[in-house]
Amino acid sequence: MTPIENLRSDFPILLRKIYDRYPLVYLDNAATTQKPRCVVEAMTDEYYNVNANVHRGVHFLSQQATDLHEGSRETVRRFLNARSTSEIVFTRGTTESINLVASCFGQAFMKEGDEVIITEMEHHSNIVSWQLLQSRQGIKIRVLPITDEGVLNLDGIGDFFNERTRIVSIAHVSNVLGTVNPVKEIIRIAHAHGVPVLVDGAQSTPHFKVDVQDLDCDFFAFSGHKIYGPTGIGVLYGKEEWLDRMPPYMGGGEMIKTVSFEKTTFNDLPYKFEAGTPDYVASTGLAKALEYVSSVGLDAIEAHEKDLTAYAMQRLMEVPGMKIYGPQDVTIHDAVLSFQVGNIHHLDMGTLLDRLGIAVRTGHHCAEPLMHRLGVEGTCRASFALYNTREEIDALVAGIRRIQTMF
Ligand code: PMP
Repeated sequence: MTPIENLRSDFPILLRKIYDRYPLVYLDNAATTQKPRCVVEAMTDEYYNVNANVHRGVHFLSQQATDLHEGSRETVRRFLNARSTSEIVFTRGTTESINLVASCFGQAFMKEGDEVIITEMEHHSNIVSWQLLQSRQGIKIRVLPITDEGVLNLDGIGDFFNERTRIVSIAHVSNVLGTVNPVKEIIRIAHAHGVPVLVDGAQSTPHFKVDVQDLDCDFFAFSGHKIYGPTGIGVLYGKEEWLDRMPPYMGGGEMIKTVSFEKTTFNDLPYKFEAGTPDYVASTGLAKALEYVSSVGLDAIEAHEKDLTAYAMQRLMEVPGMKIYGPQDVTIHDAVLSFQVGNIHHLDMGTLLDRLGIAVRTGHHCAEPLMHRLGVEGTCRASFALYNTREEIDALVAGIRRIQTMF
């Protein structure tokens, strides 16, 4: 991999001193990642030199902005190895992508009493979206349980499928436990029952290579801001055979072919799902981020972060009273570590670590049902990115030990 100092110099924010004393140790990457200079510069350049609304424009700038936007879609297609750009829908993020599927797939293919299978480790976005459909259409939500170690046990999964099962919607990687779910196997099982699968890839795309054709998933969602790109943009990949048969999500410009007061015809894929002016500058930023990640190399990023995760697990376990949630096996534990130290409240721990310049996340991490399953109100969470170092983990461990002496 590129030397870590070179990579860190791509991220100006990492030079900041916190409270004018401590160099920033940023371990909140599962919430959002920092942005490399190339992403911010590409977006600034577009605003300064290209800006014009995309599609439908006959003038030079509009065509150039359209070329950039559609070029970005092709970059996303390549990144996911989708068959066609028709399968790449730009959204505001994972949340909107999941809501779109719940809403439009639900409307097209689910009736009262039909079932969706999710898991006990889902983010709220993959729970509440289905609950909204439940209140509108009376669907049922079935929840696959996790073991005490925080992994899915596939032994009894067959019992969850019946003639009313319409879709499975699961996280690729848990944002709390770091568990890497065996989605390829789950997709195989679901397909054997004739059921499509939506994969929430918010926490997988930044950390290892994803190939939607190899997974054979029917839908795949991710957010730009978690993979070094801008906020406010994300992606929904969907197989054409499904997207084609789903109604639009929102009505407005871009998503139509013809409109009259009597009858409107909808645009082709993917525009049918992209009502209104898209964030065409953010799509440029997202494409830059994906190119950046690809140039560093996802295999190199995965190896680096696996090393950090294994090192962090080992170093954290030296702390008396330390409990780490999720699997102990790093081959199925991604770069997210939730932990609890003795009876020190997670909020106190997070606040005091912050005073040492160390940014971690505390709370329920938008996964309250999982917190109930773990029997806790919240946890402290350290999560890693390509620019983190072993020295930063040493700083985290030293910080925790210092705080421990205060209690
Ligand atoms: N799913 C998972 C697993 C997540 O970690 C997150 C973000 N924490 C989301 C969905 C929602 O992503 P966003 O807020 O970017 O829409």
